[in-house]
Amino acid sequence: MPEKKVGIILDDDFGSKHIPPYPKPSFISFEHPFRITCILNHLERIGLFKDNRVVKINPKEIDEAILELAHSKYHIDAIKKISEVGGGLLDEEVFVTHDTFDLAKKAVGGAIEAIVGVVKNRYTQSFALIRPPGHHAYREKSSGLCIFNNIANSILYLRKKLGYTKKIAIIDIDDHFGDGIAQYFYHDPSVLYFSLHEFDFTEGDIGMFDELGQDEGIGKNINFPVPSEITNKDFEYCIDFLDTVIYEFHPALIIVAAGFDMYYADPIGNCLLTSTAYNHFAAKILKIAEDLCEGRISFVLEGGYDVIGLPYCVESVLKALLNEKYEAPVFEKDALLLGESNIEDLKKIKNMLTKLLSPYWEHI
Ligand SMILES: [Zn+2]
Repeated sequence: MPEKKVGIILDDDFGSKHIPPYPKPSFISFEHPFRITCILNHLERIGLFKDNRVVKINPKEIDEAILELAHSKYHIDAIKKISEVGGGLLDEEVFVTHDTFDLAKKAVGGAIEAIVGVVKNRYTQSFALIRPPGHHAYREKSSGLCIFNNIANSILYLRKKLGYTKKIAIIDIDDHFGDGIAQYFYHDPSVLYFSLHEFDFTEGDIGMFDELGQDEGIGKNINFPVPSEITNKDFEYCIDFLDTVIYEFHPALIIVAAGFDMYYADPIGNCLLTSTAYNHFAAKILKIAEDLCEGRISFVLEGGYDVIGLPYCVESVLKALLNEKYEAPVFEKDALLLGESNIEDLKKIKNMLTKLLSPYWEHI
């Protein structure tokens, strides 16, 4: 195994630009620069950057043309023009400010640096602490607080600019279905997309378990929808579904769409995880990556809006990547008592997924 070096991609602009327009809490106001400043202050305070296995890196400078790998010129120009006139609301869930275009472009550059850096062995693992998030963004439009699709753009950069053809697994643990990412790779057998997300089983939505991918990509889109209020144990039970899949798929690189809005105190998500769940998750994925692909994992920040808990969630992941013991904050103690197990419901979903996927996988 190569010598440990964890690259953390950061930039002051993520902590100061693209400020939501409303001072009162509303859905969009939670995607705020404080998310990043709180994370960075916390990592500084606990001395994480003093660890000589941790390196701070700035995002890769990218030309606008790189955005065209993942987005239509129309969409790119639209964001640019709205930024130039001072910003506005695109719909209820997307805001644009005068500096949004530049910051969203920088976020793509941050994800590219994190992912390419791991592929090129500059770091063993990486974490891109970027915003705005990306996993809801489509080729033609922004959606759900996301402007450009940071992860999809990075993968298309690897494919089209660097000629990287190896298999890539994306594990999306954000509370919401990464519909944008799923759309890019729905037909692509070389990219496995696994998404665990909260789902409204009463009203219905996209992100259901029967969306399996299409044509050559069938079986490589795996949605694990879960009810609200899943607990740490429930989360672990769902993630275990990956075991068979990921060893059979055998990726050369794992990308985690790292949303932390399943955290119990999150103002947008409705689940009950504590930072310990993310710590165990990261340790598990690290072990898988060490077994399969020399430890190559990139975490790319997506959602996560509780500015008190978010820094601990990020710390918990980094501690796992560094093989260090993680101590959860005392205030999470009571949260562990919240909620009841959903294992029986989750078992049914797991069985359904197994049935649907077994024609496409040897070991499922
Ligand atoms: Zn989310």
